[in-house]
Amino acid sequence: MRCPFCQHDNDRVLDTRANEDGFSVRRRRCCNNCRRRFTTYERVEEIGIRVIKKDLVREPLSREKIRGGIETACWKRPPSRERIDSVVEGIVAEIHGQFEDEVSSRQVGEIVMKHLAPLDAVAFVRFASVYQEFDSLDDFVNVLSGRQQASGTGDTTS
Ligand SMILES: [Zn+2]
Repeated sequence: MRCPFCQHDNDRVLDTRANEDGFSVRRRRCCNNCRRRFTTYERVEEIGIRVIKKDLVREPLSREKIRGGIETACWKRPPSRERIDSVVEGIVAEIHGQFEDEVSSRQVGEIVMKHLAPLDAVAFVRFASVYQEFDSLDDFVNVLSGRQQASGTGDTTS
């Protein structure tokens, strides 16, 4: 962890405790270089449900991956950071409401599309066109950001 005061990347942990929500950890740290103290908060990435990908590999459901997919779909589109955040929360809540342990990546994609449609039509079409082909958030982000870089200007008329 890089020290926020002197940028030195060498500290020791003085104290670790779980937050009440059970999903994050607070660590009190001391920089070994300047001796100043700071606090970090770590969010638990694993939120219970696992996603089964097309190749049957399972991975933890990741809020950050969902956000990454939606941000990629909304590239140069109007939805604000706050609206995207609330859509991500809605998607995660719906997945938790419908599934207990496992969900297929295709089902995740369908839920994402359902929430993306009212958010932004262009983002929805971008997501739907790639996702139906590849069926995974990783592939989606890779393919779409590749296309965006290739087109350069962000022209999506093609
Ligand atoms: Zn320091």
